[in-house]
Amino acid sequence: GQSSGGYDYAFKILLIGDSGVGKTSLIVSFVSDSIEPPLPTVGMDLKFKLLTVGGKKLKLTIWDTAGQDKFRTLTHSFYRGAHGIILVYDITVRSTFTAISDFWFKEVEIYTTNPKCVKMLVGNKVDRDSERVVSQEEGIALAKELGCSFFECSVKTRENVVQCYETLALKIMEVP
Ligand code: GDP
Repeated sequence: GQSSGGYDYAFKILLIGDSGVGKTSLIVSFVSDSIEPPLPTVGMDLKFKLLTVGGKKLKLTIWDTAGQDKFRTLTHSFYRGAHGIILVYDITVRSTFTAISDFWFKEVEIYTTNPKCVKMLVGNKVDRDSERVVSQEEGIALAKELGCSFFECSVKTRENVVQCYETLALKIMEVP
């Protein structure tokens, strides 16, 4: 590792998925340790987070689509050089789940230039389990089909939020 740079590795992480699934919330919650709902963001937005995983100091640059998800017109350069991609859906809205295989994963396959990019599927809002329409089994099956790791989480209760990022970072470091 580096002795002067303050971190051993720097990774570019993207969060993608339909509007409203909780991408900005997942980023803000992780980066600032706050559970306040985020303000809507305009233009491409990125945040930094330093964390130690597996004894290594990491600097994550986390990119949010910041509104471009509404029109599903992400700048293709957004994907360039990404080390890890988190594909997010809302367990209470089925269309956000079908959009993963119908649209978002296809985008990833077309535009991700790094063949070693690690992908993770995340079903958010498990605190609203009474309104759940996508079962955990369906999430697990899709993740397996797409070759992704899988988590269900809640920004509201903070369940699994940190674990998602830590697991992704570990997987990225495991890539030969
Ligand atoms: P984005 O469009 O994907 O960036 O989604 P946002 O982060 O803007 O979140 C959309 C809405 O879902 C906001 O009102 C959030 O407060 C809410 N939200 C995000 N995560 C959760 C969660 O885990 N549970 C619940 N109940 N609401 C959430």
